[in-house]
Amino acid sequence: MGYSAEDEALIKEKWDDLLLSCTKICKNDEDWNFIKRAFFLAKEAHEGVRRRSGEPYLLHPIAVAKIVIEEIGLGVKSVVAALLHDVVEDTEYTVEDMERIFGAKIASMVDGLTKMSGVFNADTSEQAEYFRKVLLTLSDDVRVILIKIADRLHNMRTLGSMPLNKQIKITGETIYLFAPLAYRLGLYSIKSELEDLCMKYRFPQQYAEISQKLQESEATRQEFINKFNAPIIAALNRDNINYEISGRVKSIYSIWSKMQRKQIPFEEIYDLFAIRIVFNPLPFPSEKTQCWQIYSTITDIYTPKPDRLRDWISMPKANGYEALHSTVMGPDGVWVEVQIRTQRMEEIAERGFAAHWKYKKATFSQDEDEFDKWLKQIRAALNSPTENAVDFLDNFKLSLYTSEIVVFTPKGESRKMPYGATALDFAYDIHSKIGNSAISAKINHKLEPITTQINSGDQIEIITAETTHPKPEWLEVVTTAKAKQAIKNFLKRERQNNIERGQQMLEEQMKALNINLSGRVLRKIIPIYESNNKDELYSKIGAGIISLDNLDKILKSNSRNKLLKFWTLFIPKKEGDEAEENTTNDELSESKQSETPQQFVIAECCKPIPGDKVVGYRDPATNNIIVHKANCDELNRLASQFGKNIVKDEIKWSQHKAMSYLVTVELRGLDRLGLLLDLAKVVSGDFSINIREINIHSHDGIFEGGISLYVKDAESLQAVMDRLRKIKGIETVKRTIS
Ligand code: MN
Repeated sequence: MGYSAEDEALIKEKWDDLLLSCTKICKNDEDWNFIKRAFFLAKEAHEGVRRRSGEPYLLHPIAVAKIVIEEIGLGVKSVVAALLHDVVEDTEYTVEDMERIFGAKIASMVDGLTKMSGVFNADTSEQAEYFRKVLLTLSDDVRVILIKIADRLHNMRTLGSMPLNKQIKITGETIYLFAPLAYRLGLYSIKSELEDLCMKYRFPQQYAEISQKLQESEATRQEFINKFNAPIIAALNRDNINYEISGRVKSIYSIWSKMQRKQIPFEEIYDLFAIRIVFNPLPFPSEKTQCWQIYSTITDIYTPKPDRLRDWISMPKANGYEALHSTVMGPDGVWVEVQIRTQRMEEIAERGFAAHWKYKKATFSQDEDEFDKWLKQIRAALNSPTENAVDFLDNFKLSLYTSEIVVFTPKGESRKMPYGATALDFAYDIHSKIGNSAISAKINHKLEPITTQINSGDQIEIITAETTHPKPEWLEVVTTAKAKQAIKNFLKRERQNNIERGQQMLEEQMKALNINLSGRVLRKIIPIYESNNKDELYSKIGAGIISLDNLDKILKSNSRNKLLKFWTLFIPKKEGDEAEENTTNDELSESKQSETPQQFVIAECCKPIPGDKVVGYRDPATNNIIVHKANCDELNRLASQFGKNIVKDEIKWSQHKAMSYLVTVELRGLDRLGLLLDLAKVVSGDFSINIREINIHSHDGIFEGGISLYVKDAESLQAVMDRLRKIKGIETVKRTIS
């Protein structure tokens, strides 16, 4: 039942350590007793219970309380609530008991925390709805969310002892909600750690590779930083400034995201680190003036890059972040980012919300009600009856990362857009009709693709054409909820039209062949045309993806080869299955199919191809297993809402030799004579790959476009892309969703 002497010693050690941290926040005996009472109640309540890792359960609330003090900077009440956070959830104690023993405030905090765990444990599609309700506590007492983040951080730090499907569910929630939430609340280092931990569990190999490369390059980097810092240190000392200077390396996750986003190798990331100067300002002149003085000192030494100056002091980020960022040309022709901030700004950047509030009491500054504004927005959104819960959650997530830029219409009217918005977002912001027919944009009078990211101060004119329409890939380009919704609406309408048109076309064709379009006939042709159901078949016919030219041949033939595709692509890897793994002949696959009538369907959102790392998600409506790329956003969204549907077993690609997959590769670079010819040579000549479509256009010496081609697997795609990158003039080569 109880704990062993060894366990007791471990608990005592951690508790003593927590008490040491408490000296920072306890002002009198009352505070000390409050925390001790909470500890003894938690100890008694969780007595004898262990975590999955085998350690005494009590170590978890103690660790959460420690994070709450040391990493978030909260006070006595929050520590008490952290110690008690799982008591109502997991033991006999009730919220009423909490109120009786610790008072109404603690009871309501523990209640909020209990409800939140209820949300994430809920094996129900109503998770989103619960979450929305619980977020209401955000505007009542943000501390509840902060403690929940501490709870999640500790669970992520100890995730190793969880089974794979739990890991995917928990990392999905973390990357989808908790990391953005931590960011929005200004907890930068917690946000980075959460992301790094997610990556460590989901992409262990890539994580290890990057971390090793960072270690290997550490000495060279330090040498460079020393060389870079030396003249700055001399100048700051000369000016009698009280400061600290350090080199901050990017997090592994953000390095990896950048490698993915730009599709470049580790070696081509040039902003691996930034130099940070934190100083203790004099009482006069203003902090801002003193930051600019340091900026001036540094740019006397190194030349700044004019378009990389970020003044987060005049206009702090929506989460309260303040600093001056500048990129300068360092020794050896390397660009280096320099961040300049005061100790106060540093504390806000590290501790976020909690520090923010502390300073808010002391100072009067107009920019500090950004946070209040955001809370008001959340409350309004929560109370809006029109939004359904899942949409709300998506929009909420979008709003988490929001910080604003100001752009202008051709007539000079200013509009606020979220940071990261593209010209297409801007088009939709003006009117959905303009968005739906946008083809390109004039940004500051220069013609740019509609996908271009816009920056503060840009003046934007949208060029439209009657003949153009929204494409599914636009969903990847836009960042605002408004644009996403408008595109989705259009695609839905278009799909409906295609379904109707496709059905009509198929019926006419059947009539011409004198065949009755019965359910049996439909069931036969749906898989042959690589569709999952009637509607998909119709819509593909209607959209012209499927041609009915050889319909009569297909109906006559008895071939079931194509039909195998959907249930032989993947076989869940089971223990003791090793021997079978290498045999991938059709008969084996087919006999498997009769045992398990499980359909595997390739996810439309990310379209994995053989060789990609994939995760299965059981669609509750059809019971099909939808196979997503392991890093698919949609998968993370699903995992955060319906985590129990993540397929437990690892899914492996099995047989894929006979099939080709359609992928689109996006290209961008400098236009030159003969470029198209070189392109064609690479894709068709060298790799004998089947091109479906090439779509290239050029303007102002820049060419852009996409090639749709059929490839066997991720490996051969990678080979083509590597070759494309080597073509003279080509700057970016990216795989997109087609
Ligand atoms: Mn917990």
